Amino acid sequence: MKALAIDLGGTHARCALVKDRAILRAKTLEADSTGTLAALLPRLADAFRTLLREAGLQTSDFAGLAFSSCGIVDSSTGRFLSAREKWTDAEQTDVPGWCEREFSLPMKLENDARMALLGEWYAGSGRGFDSIVMMTLGTGIGGAAMIEGKLLRGKHFQAGNLGGHQTVQLGGRKCMCGNIGCAEAEASGWSLPLVAREWPGFTGSALGREPRVDFEALFRLAQEGDRVAVEIRERCLRVWAAAAVGLVHAFDPEIVILGGGVMKSSSAILPFVREYVREHTWTPWGKVNVRAAELGNDAALLGAIPLLGA
Ligand SMILES: [Zn+2]
Repeated sequence: MKALAIDLGGTHARCALVKDRAILRAKTLEADSTGTLAALLPRLADAFRTLLREAGLQTSDFAGLAFSSCGIVDSSTGRFLSAREKWTDAEQTDVPGWCEREFSLPMKLENDARMALLGEWYAGSGRGFDSIVMMTLGTGIGGAAMIEGKLLRGKHFQAGNLGGHQTVQLGGRKCMCGNIGCAEAEASGWSLPLVAREWPGFTGSALGREPRVDFEALFRLAQEGDRVAVEIRERCLRVWAAAAVGLVHAFDPEIVILGGGVMKSSSAILPFVREYVREHTWTPWGKVNVRAAELGNDAALLGAIPLLGA
């Protein structure tokens, strides 16, 4: 089975021709997130025409188009519900209509965190499991859940997506979601510089001399023994592990998959989270697997076939 696949992020859009568990060809477009979706769609159509020509294929060779996007989407109608400030016209844009006009193909729209889970389930570290939660550690903490083979969507298409917004610190930092002390507000790409700045000894530390306080710098300097970096790394690990425990207790999975850019440091993260989850979850049936995602940025594209087939 073949599918056209789009992964729309805040700053880029990736178009791909997918065949089963493989990406045949892909093309990345810079996407100006201050622009409109209506202006981006013709560029996406052009990108697909180029890919099809290069591959010697036609749209009739494809079962449909799988559209993965950030934000909250109504997967039953293919409509965007809230793209927040990223695509101002998304909620008014008829993307399924565009797909029908351009390619004469059916289209399904799904949130990118769910698409990444579908991809990992179909072609990555979730293969062989049917009850999965995924945590994506990046600028924020994203996530999705599958229970007994069914991708969790919920009444308002938010189910499973907000695991990064569970409280891990009473009286903690204010989060962008409105809650206080969320995992994301305590240990994510956007909150890390805020946490670090308030850490005792930060100003005189090697981390404090970095031009940019991000997870790359944090893990590198912790590895080199900078005391402040070691302490903050420890704190982040505990936040993520506590959030993973919460997800296990909420969703009863067989496996927790950790993905996202922060997992470049998986050798420092995975053993800690795995051990913590094994020690602190109530799972009389056995032990939950904790694994790193395998597909990286390809995961959401490789969710195309199960999305269209579902
Ligand atoms: Zn939050």
